[in-house]
Amino acid sequence: MSVSQPQRTCVACRTVADKKQLLRFVLAPEGQVVVDYRQQLPGRGLYTCFNLQCPAQAVKRKSFHRGFGAITQPLELSELHGQLRRALFQRIKGLILMARKAGQLIAGSNMVLDTLKGPAPPTVVVMTTDITENMKQKIDRTAKRQQIFCTQLFDKVSLGQMLGKQERSVVAIQDGELATLLKSELNRYELVREN
Ligand SMILES: [Zn+2]
Repeated sequence: MSVSQPQRTCVACRTVADKKQLLRFVLAPEGQVVVDYRQQLPGRGLYTCFNLQCPAQAVKRKSFHRGFGAITQPLELSELHGQLRRALFQRIKGLILMARKAGQLIAGSNMVLDTLKGPAPPTVVVMTTDITENMKQKIDRTAKRQQIFCTQLFDKVSLGQMLGKQERSVVAIQDGELATLLKSELNRYELVREN
């Protein structure tokens, strides 16, 4: 861990970590606690670990009320979770679109399978939740063998729409900065997704 990274403390479990690894909350002008996913909103921030448990603890123990003082809107944990998931979803979507623009996106089952077996395998594979079981197993197996990060998100229609196609059941992102970023956001999504 670099010493130059600003450190913050989780208001729930008191873990100290790099600010960027934590989840930031601010008090909106309307007196409502909001998730500041990109850590760019003005005002004082409170932080928790990036998971579902610490925000829940913080709500339960009134840490936000103590820290912000002037919360005038109801503070609902489900609302905070919803905000977090939406922010992550948008971020993931944005990165996939950036990868496409940069020519680093491989789309479609056969193309992805070929690339997985080829000399320059991708870093990240995203399969939709409604991919056929047969294809899922094929891709999963091939990716695992090469220790490539592989996860399931979106459905065929929404992934297709994102890419301006009718349906897409799998995409892969070539090695690079975007793929690395996407992998870390997908890992975060795993921590906060509904089961
Ligand atoms: Zn914590």
